[in-house]
Amino acid sequence: MNDTIRNLFKLQTLEFDEPVRPNTEEQIAELRTQIPPAVLSHYDRLGDSGKKGVAMLRHQVCTGCHLQVPLHVVLELKHGDELRLCDNCRRYLYLEEEAPVVPLASVKTAAKPHRRQLAHAR
Ligand SMILES: [Zn+2]
Repeated sequence: MNDTIRNLFKLQTLEFDEPVRPNTEEQIAELRTQIPPAVLSHYDRLGDSGKKGVAMLRHQVCTGCHLQVPLHVVLELKHGDELRLCDNCRRYLYLEEEAPVVPLASVKTAAKPHRRQLAHAR
């Protein structure tokens, strides 16, 4: 995995998702120094138009546009050192590391509503 995309994803998390903490600005500045300018400028261009510049790749699907990504791109991301853009939405693809593969069948749906234990209350 490429450090740049990891940093970029971290940066995006700080800029979009995290509640602002006192040291967030510092971390953002620090991360920005570690990402190549060309990558940052593409990321910022997307950000300016209100889009996230990095999309997580899950089960071979880009979470930015929900389209399937060709397998060779997934493999290149996994084994290569190159950044890849989603062909469709032009976001950087971030391959989740060690994504837990949970077969859908084994995912339990929400537990039954909690039964109040009123039976013995008098
Ligand atoms: Zn996409």
